[in-house]
Amino acid sequence: MARRLLIAGNWKLHKTVEEAVALAGDIASGLVRDDLDVLVIPGFLALEPVALSLSASSVLVGGQNLFWEDQGAYTGEVSGPFLKAAGARYVLVGHSERREYFGETERTCRLRVEAALRSGLLPILCVGETQAEREGGQTEGVLESQLAGALAGFDAAQAANITIAYEPVWAIGTGLTASEAQANEAHSHIRAWLGARFNKDVANSTRILYGGSVKPANAAGLMNQPEVDGALVGGASLSAESFLGIIQAA
Ligand code: PEP
Repeated sequence: MARRLLIAGNWKLHKTVEEAVALAGDIASGLVRDDLDVLVIPGFLALEPVALSLSASSVLVGGQNLFWEDQGAYTGEVSGPFLKAAGARYVLVGHSERREYFGETERTCRLRVEAALRSGLLPILCVGETQAEREGGQTEGVLESQLAGALAGFDAAQAANITIAYEPVWAIGTGLTASEAQANEAHSHIRAWLGARFNKDVANSTRILYGGSVKPANAAGLMNQPEVDGALVGGASLSAESFLGIIQAA
């Protein structure tokens, strides 16, 4: 089954509202491809202004995280309905920085995936092993337990709305990239797991993005791998030139 590529830029804690709107405009005006999906993921404050500025463009907008309750006395949180109303289509769940610095667990990932689906957002569930786990031969086991925990209790119809991002922690923001073969092998393992846990259709249709120091120079090789359906880009998404370079190369 041909899966449409998705190239997503996670702007993390970068870009003020003004800078984010300018970057989104540069990406939209430089985009010449319509055979793939392009997604930008600004900080919360910039999300609505960016979404409004992109309303005439095919570039989609997503959130970097969401809380699992829709509303209430939860100071400082942002929920699915709020993101949806601001113009988000997608939302990241379980990014390794959330896991490392903000106590994200499999249980909270599962709650966030559920909240995203309930709000009509498309969750992008991030999974990936650390360097020590890879060196210890635990990559597949780590991926399986992250997937099993975050997707516990969902059925195939729900799983059909989920995107997975394979992001080896050792390759995020480090300049180290998984080799094409390492990425393809991990994606293939994730796809086989989806097939066993849900069904063949879910396995064949789920987009699995690669993330970890993707740049214009390595994008083509990674995106050409049969199991790689796009990229989740951090650092190289902060300039229109490099993000568009990745899109062009994909
Ligand atoms: C990310 O933050 O998801 C990421 C992959 O970052 P970078 O591209 O900078 O490694």
